[in-house]
Amino acid sequence: MTDAPAYGFDTLQIHAGAKPDPATGARQTPIYQTTAYVFRDADHAAALFNLQEVGFIYSRLTNPTVAVLQERIATLEGGVGAVCCSSGHAAQIMALFPLMQPGCNVVASTRLYGGTVTQLSQTIKRFGWEAKFVDFDDLDAVRDAIDDNTRAVFGESVANPGGYVTDIRAVADVADAAGVPLIIDNTSATPYLCRPIEQGATLVVHSTTKYLTGNGTVTGGCVVDSGNFDWSASDKFPSLSAPEPAYHGLKFHETFGGLAFTFHGIAIGLRDLGMTMNPQAAHYTLMGIETLSLRMERHCENAKKVAAWLEADDRVEYVTYAGLPSSPYADRAARCYPKGTGGLFTFAVKGGYEACVKLVNALEIFSHVANLGDARSLIIHSASTTHRQLTPEQQEAAGAGPNVVRVSIGIEDADDLIRDLDQALAQASA
Ligand SMILES: *Cc1c(COP(=O)(O)O)cnc(C)c1O
Repeated sequence: MTDAPAYGFDTLQIHAGAKPDPATGARQTPIYQTTAYVFRDADHAAALFNLQEVGFIYSRLTNPTVAVLQERIATLEGGVGAVCCSSGHAAQIMALFPLMQPGCNVVASTRLYGGTVTQLSQTIKRFGWEAKFVDFDDLDAVRDAIDDNTRAVFGESVANPGGYVTDIRAVADVADAAGVPLIIDNTSATPYLCRPIEQGATLVVHSTTKYLTGNGTVTGGCVVDSGNFDWSASDKFPSLSAPEPAYHGLKFHETFGGLAFTFHGIAIGLRDLGMTMNPQAAHYTLMGIETLSLRMERHCENAKKVAAWLEADDRVEYVTYAGLPSSPYADRAARCYPKGTGGLFTFAVKGGYEACVKLVNALEIFSHVANLGDARSLIIHSASTTHRQLTPEQQEAAGAGPNVVRVSIGIEDADDLIRDLDQALAQASA
């Protein structure tokens, strides 16, 4: 799409990366349900395996349906390339893998999706990697946490479970000065509300499971590369700058320039880690992305109405939504996220744990599930589910105290959602 005129977001979310199928003229992107692709001849096969020619070999590496989605997301994010994976958590590992080695660390925000906190604080230790968690509002703390072994800074744009928004530009300046890439998880904002690369991020990761697909059908993830980072400026990123033994000494950055990270993600990451997105999942996500801007507008509009109604209700202690004028992040939200702060927030119910459990049980439209970013409204009581294993202190620190529920506001009629919450709060406080 580089030579195309500057199409608007609504056009690109439908067309980027896709064209009528050259074999049949099929207008919608076909699901290429195939494992392998016939080589033209032995020379063609050899060229593909040597990375001298780009093409399809085997669907663990590349698949035409998945390739359309990759180009679609890369275009919407303003990146040069993208690699789709089997889940958002796979995408996070795929983003870190080329950067890290045993003994290296990532400096991460304290405000992250719970699963990411577990992945970074526990699981990556098995690879010899480490995470240092700091408050991203304290830029000096971010600066101080970066040491000689830091290989990435990691945060979320609109942070899950809600109420916090990152000033990406400010954090990117700190990462830049230290010569390390900034990775932004843009799952909750989506490229419609936030384009982290424009604000200085090097890489963007997504759980495409959520808003990009938008209907709770498939899990998936994506890593988008800005193409802006100079991997050869230091000796910190040998996977990208030094000769690669698994490709006869090829140097990814020297050979592929701005596409080095994307080529490495496919040729090494997917080839050897195998966290591949399947073409059915890519199809569902392509269907969802076509309406992304329309849905995000409605998610934001509904979330604002519902959050304002809850905030004014006596049975509610507080609401954390960055889109509310009362939020401590209201100014930052208006400056960095002018189109809105999405559909996720938490609120605290008077009556504590018991009232929350009753509320969740009494709701009719809201579904009690461990998911977010669906067209339908969702709710979860973290203290009795996702954060159950944590101590009360840890629950509070995570914004998931016993009196707190998290909602993902859908695109239904806001008045119906408010009526549903009203009747459930009445039962919860009875
Ligand atoms: C869901 C989620 C993830 C993990 O994605 P999966 O697709 O569930 O693996 C990561 N980050 C955020 C912000 C999420 O909401």
